[in-house]
Amino acid sequence: MGWRPRILAKISEGRQPIFNGMRYSAFSLAREALRGHRGWTPAWRDAQPKARYDVVVIGGGGHGLATAYYLAKTYGLTDVAVLEKDWIGSGNAGRNTTIIRSNYLLPGNLPFYELSMKLWEGLERDLNYNAMISQRGVLNLYHSDAQRDAFARRGNAMRMHGVDAELLDAAAVRRMLPFLDFDAARFPIQGGLLQPRGGTARHDAVVWGYARAASALGVDIVQNCEVVGMIRVGGRIVGVETTRGPIRASKVAISVAGNSSRVGGMAGLRLPIESHVLQAFVTEAVKPVIPGVVTFGAGHFYISQSDKGGLVFGGDLDGYNSYAQRGNLPTVEDVCEGAMALMPRIGRVRILRSWGGVVDMSMDGSPIIDRTPLDGLYLNAGWCYGGFKATPAAGACLAHLVACDEPHPLARAYRLDRFATGHTIDEKGMGPQPNLH
Ligand SMILES: Cc1cc2nc3c(=O)[nH]c(=O)nc-3n(C[C@H](O)[C@H](O)[C@H](O)COP(=O)(O)OP(=O)(O)OC[C@H]3O[C@@H](n4cnc5c(N)ncnc54)[C@H](O)[C@@H]3O)c2cc1C
Repeated sequence: MGWRPRILAKISEGRQPIFNGMRYSAFSLAREALRGHRGWTPAWRDAQPKARYDVVVIGGGGHGLATAYYLAKTYGLTDVAVLEKDWIGSGNAGRNTTIIRSNYLLPGNLPFYELSMKLWEGLERDLNYNAMISQRGVLNLYHSDAQRDAFARRGNAMRMHGVDAELLDAAAVRRMLPFLDFDAARFPIQGGLLQPRGGTARHDAVVWGYARAASALGVDIVQNCEVVGMIRVGGRIVGVETTRGPIRASKVAISVAGNSSRVGGMAGLRLPIESHVLQAFVTEAVKPVIPGVVTFGAGHFYISQSDKGGLVFGGDLDGYNSYAQRGNLPTVEDVCEGAMALMPRIGRVRILRSWGGVVDMSMDGSPIIDRTPLDGLYLNAGWCYGGFKATPAAGACLAHLVACDEPHPLARAYRLDRFATGHTIDEKGMGPQPNLH
């Protein structure tokens, strides 16, 4: 068995959640249908906070809940609380555009994201939860010879790591997506890099599935419990102050996405992270038109179609620092310009909703999963635009770090000190500013 299957086997084996007679199956669905759905029990316990835990995870997004789940399942640590200031999934986990993929180039990233993809592929069975994982393919379009060469290089790197990738020419893309504007004067489409195993997953269901399985393993999920301070003894963090009183813990993990700088600041940490607003949009439902996920290579625009039929799309950051979960009109216009340049017929559908999330932009575009200079305090942050696809692997690797006090082998590159030592990852090689990656 190679190293990657061994790592997967380690994460996948371990304790099994006990769902108190409420295991979801075709049989339980039929039984409840026959008795008016009166037998369903809550999917997870709404726990009251205890005064002390072995591990406290701050942040009830996908990453925090996945971390708690793998702590309990893989490492047998069940005296764990997830503290969430609002309701679980109220942050980026419930606001993203649900794209999952592992089409990365650099050795620091590619094996990590492929681990995540493998975990996605077994997740529904693992959690006994329908997360609507749909491997409908992710296609990155290219519009110039130079871009084709860069995509060919990335595709080759993926294939050398055993990850699926296909370089398509314009004719192949045209067969898949005949409605794109292939011959636009400014950005003619020359082809695309396809990852067939990429796709989408229902974001809320991922949160609920992890919460249910973690709770079944004994984890306390505490909602409406905001962390407002750290309890520090010398150089060690020994607990947190919350809106529901102090909670002591042997270990504290920060997993709060767009609020990383705020929560890090409570421990006196200054993080290499800026918080920015990222918007997304969904249109009225139309008949199936887009088979997978498509990204425009000449601007920042990407699109897919939800199972309900809405076209789900997004683009660039709003471009200023903010903690507000709402965006501004100039970015709406910019994203819609990208949409019109790629597929002009989108101008005929109506936008139903738009929303914003606060993303934690790191200074090289790659994440941080590491210990902090304070004993007992661990950090998972810097996921920028792309942390949803990382949810299973981020949870597994943060759980490993917290349980074993050493980085997971596939997350070694995500060190906090890389910005000081010069070992930045620069996956897109564009520069140390959030608006450039
Ligand atoms: C519009 C948009 C589109 C995106 N699209 C994609 C995509 O298609 N694919 C992809 O891979 N990624 C995407 N992302 C990024 C992805 O959503 C995030 O990187 C990822 O969800 C972050 O991890 P999380 O789920 O744990 O974060 P969150 O869900 O934000 O979890 C953090 C939680 O911490 C809580 N919290 C904060 N402060 C405190 C405190 N003091 N005390 C207690 N709790 C606290 C918050 O309330 C929040 O629930 C997108 C993001 C946005 C905004």
